[in-house]
Amino acid sequence: MQLYNNLSAKERAALIEEAGQERLTISFYKYAQIGNPELFRNHLFINWNELDVLGRIYVAHEGINAQLSIPAENFELFKAHLDSITFLENVRLNIAMEQDNLSFLKLKVKVRKKIVADGLVDETFDVTNKGIHVGAEKFNELIDDPDTILVDMRNHYESEIGHFKNAITPDVDTFRDSLDIIEKDLADHKEDKKLVMYCTGGIRCEKASAYYKHKGFKQVYQLEGGIIDYTRQVKNKKLENKFLGKNFVFDHRRSERITDDVIANCHQCGNPCDNHVNCANEACHLLFIQCEECAEKMHDCCSDSCKEVHELPFEEQKKLRKGKGASNKIFKKGRSEVLKFKN
Ligand SMILES: [Zn+2]
Ligand SMILES: [Zn+2]
Repeated sequence: MQLYNNLSAKERAALIEEAGQERLTISFYKYAQIGNPELFRNHLFINWNELDVLGRIYVAHEGINAQLSIPAENFELFKAHLDSITFLENVRLNIAMEQDNLSFLKLKVKVRKKIVADGLVDETFDVTNKGIHVGAEKFNELIDDPDTILVDMRNHYESEIGHFKNAITPDVDTFRDSLDIIEKDLADHKEDKKLVMYCTGGIRCEKASAYYKHKGFKQVYQLEGGIIDYTRQVKNKKLENKFLGKNFVFDHRRSERITDDVIANCHQCGNPCDNHVNCANEACHLLFIQCEECAEKMHDCCSDSCKEVHELPFEEQKKLRKGKGASNKIFKKGRSEVLKFKN
């Protein structure tokens, strides 16, 4: 029984190119009580590996959060397998707008404590007592409602390149931080305002909405399927698209363009740009926004010191890294003093 990958990412990429089949990029999540996540994890791996599923899937006692790609021709079989699992029957699947055959190169199914790192110790609230789910049409109506407070539940580096018009975009590094900040900022409006929230695919709002209801907010709404499904709906139903810019995603594509608006700036020169990169210095890997000119000038690095290291022979770089933890864990994602144009 094969429970682990036996191909490297490189070998896999070559195989996918060679096969030339169309692949779909799909995400879904479900809060459910899973008694034995370890067992469930193995069950998924065995079945999905056979269907040539690739992706990153988290399984916990509280549910499942999956981002994956699959050959289009195996989609029906995959759907049938999902439907054979009681709590995943007819689960809503987000299918990415831009298809990219190389969005994932391995199948990783991991057992975690939580499916979203929420940092909450407060287990007293009921995750299933969530906000009112709304589709794109109702969401647009709510945005125009003067009693609405629209909140982006994502982190600063996500909302920086794209968000809904008039949304509050907390300048936070983690989901946990934004939960607290929003609760504090809106403390006086727990009863009179409509708290309307959105995130990438809906999973963070699922928990946040339950959390805010638990904290006394009376009118809590969440965008079902997040920005991903909103985009699909406005296209299909020809609705007004109130999103600006790009949707940050958690695979190697980093983002999907939703509209042509460029609302961010290169962190090095300040010119309009919304292209995220990781610093090319392996010991840094800082996530930041860099325009093509700066990329060329800085050799894909975030700073002069990273550039110096990056230009050393590989063996030298390795020596420098020895004994030191990866500094990208020290740097917060997308923040560093070396970035002149990052607030
Ligand atoms: Zn630049
Ligand atoms: Zn760097």
